[in-house]
Amino acid sequence: MREKIQNVMRNIPSMDKMLSMPWIGKYEAEIGRDSVKSVISEVLDDQRKKILKDPDTAFDTEKVAAEAEKRLKDRAHKSLKPLVNATGVVLHTNLGRSLLAEDAVEAVRSVGENYSTLEYSTETGSRGHRNNHVEWLICRLTGAEAAIVVNNNAAAVILCLGAVAKDKEAVISRGELVEIGGSFRIPEIMALSGTKMVDVGTTNMTHLSDYESAISEETAVLLKVHPSNFSIEGYTASVSRDEIAKLAHDNGIIFMEDLGSGMLTDQRIMFKTTDPTVRSCIEAGVDLVTFSGDKLLGGPQIGVIAGSAGLIDKLRKYPLLRALRVDKMTLAAFEATLRLYLKGRMELIPTFRMINRDTEEMKTQARRLRRKLSILLGRTRLKSVFIDVVPVNDTVGGGSFPGAELKGYAVSLKLPELGSAGKLAEKLRLLTVPVITGINEDRILFHVRTLSEKDEKRILDGFKEMFSLESQKA
Ligand SMILES: *Cc1c(COP(=O)(O)O)cnc(C)c1O
Repeated sequence: MREKIQNVMRNIPSMDKMLSMPWIGKYEAEIGRDSVKSVISEVLDDQRKKILKDPDTAFDTEKVAAEAEKRLKDRAHKSLKPLVNATGVVLHTNLGRSLLAEDAVEAVRSVGENYSTLEYSTETGSRGHRNNHVEWLICRLTGAEAAIVVNNNAAAVILCLGAVAKDKEAVISRGELVEIGGSFRIPEIMALSGTKMVDVGTTNMTHLSDYESAISEETAVLLKVHPSNFSIEGYTASVSRDEIAKLAHDNGIIFMEDLGSGMLTDQRIMFKTTDPTVRSCIEAGVDLVTFSGDKLLGGPQIGVIAGSAGLIDKLRKYPLLRALRVDKMTLAAFEATLRLYLKGRMELIPTFRMINRDTEEMKTQARRLRRKLSILLGRTRLKSVFIDVVPVNDTVGGGSFPGAELKGYAVSLKLPELGSAGKLAEKLRLLTVPVITGINEDRILFHVRTLSEKDEKRILDGFKEMFSLESQKA
């Protein structure tokens, strides 16, 4: 047995032999000789382990070399890279939520390649504060007295609760003890902040008297949380912001709301929801409102806390803030995005534009894409191509408007010769520029709501790659 294993092991090529393969050079140029070596030794180790487990494992140098090249190819390419989102989900959490407006991208580039006024006042020649670049804009757009920004909305909630309710109690309705995307669960976030959770009411019903009777000497906060990715219908009751605000202030406690998405402009008619804007929360008497920068707002990932001057000052002094502070590129993108709101040029914000797209315009786009795709697929050897323009329901995503369905259009495609729709979706996913599609039964769907003209070209290029077609024609 042992001898057998040793014999097989001897067949494994040496590191030197592997390094002398003709294709090694280009990977060395990409990731360096040491990294190439470490990838190869991983592959060789795996092979040794396989042989130890089963000495009959057939050994094949070519196969090992192919595996090594596959892994090297993987490491040699950028891992975080653009792709085409043809899912029709505008705020797709896994695909990066909001796209930045051109102004925001330009601002990132500009502070990225130059020194900047990040924490410097040119007026006094001394230290300034990074928060100042956006505070007045947030105040202007929301009506808040003061504001501060942190890494994301989760951080905003943790900071607020820690700074104002550590070792004290926060009262929250049981209908708002939600989980938002895997790792953000309200009870856990409260525990992490050192706040004692006092949950009141029931899942579907919470009354003012529930809050009232929960208030004690230990209560620091009445907390309201936007349920974001679910909605309850039927026999329900919750308490209005005005009522909670009055109760909180009569008792000298703070009213805080985690608004989640945070609309800066009123999109209520379009979404047929009663979702408030940040401004309407502030006006109703919420003392601290937290929301994300990269959901409906359409900016970079950032967490905003808007509210009363006294409380925001308290947050500024809370040591945790230093650990949650925002990078200059994010600040630059956020400032540029807010300025578009200030100018009333929201149509320049991709998230805003995609959510509000005209249905007829999408139909025209879908027809155009179908035509181009048909021509291209006609140049392949495929015998059967099923391609249509179909109406679809798109979604906002990102925990915004769970019930709302946006009417859109898609190009549906079925290529039976390539196998199932799942198989075709996989082929598209594995292209140089991956294309992520929707699927409906046996067809894949290219929802055009989330496709730019550039994306259409990328899809066509993707099919050319898939069928090894020449580029010059179609
Ligand atoms: C999305 C959301 C969060 C988390 O925000 P991030 O910016 O992803 O950290 C927290 N609370 C609510 C209500 C949300 O909708």
